[in-house]
Amino acid sequence: MACALTALEDHPDVTVLGTSAVYETVPVGVEDQPSFLNMVVACRSEVTPEQLLTITQAIESSGGRERLERWGPRTIDLDILRYGHHTMKTERLQIPHPRMMERAFVLIPLLDVAALDPDLDIEEIQLAIEACDDCGGVIKYANELPR
Ligand code: ATP
Ligand code: MG
Ligand code: MG
Repeated sequence: MACALTALEDHPDVTVLGTSAVYETVPVGVEDQPSFLNMVVACRSEVTPEQLLTITQAIESSGGRERLERWGPRTIDLDILRYGHHTMKTERLQIPHPRMMERAFVLIPLLDVAALDPDLDIEEIQLAIEACDDCGGVIKYANELPR
């Protein structure tokens, strides 16, 4: 996770504006696996959303991502949650991320960096968190990513 954040920070086409705290999340779906660590990073970039996905996928690969089953254990998962007010849906990329509004492990860290995203409706995020039934499974792990 620290390597992925450093890779984003070092990428010439991406400016990291801020990072959330790190949250430990009890896994949902496939349950006999260790907890996940989740965080949200706010970035600015001039590249297209597709180009940003190419960048994040390259970072995932260089982090040695390997996974046998969907939603199973993996080393790193870099998802694009939002891209300003942009919406799109292709086979390769959907923005906003189609499952973000029902995931407490996304929404809780997203609130930490919400002020950095002028297009974000903070109240909508707060309401969505209240509607999540897995909020209790998301616990603050560290205020900053240890590295
Ligand atoms: P989930 O999408 O439910 O969080 P996941 O992150 O584990 O699942 P991946 O295996 O990382 O799923 O990604 C599967 C595909 O999703 C990727 O190959 C990518 O093309 C596509 N994808 C679509 N929208 C997005 C997005 N907003 N961010 C990242 N990947 C996306
Ligand atoms: Mg994901
Ligand atoms: Mg993913």
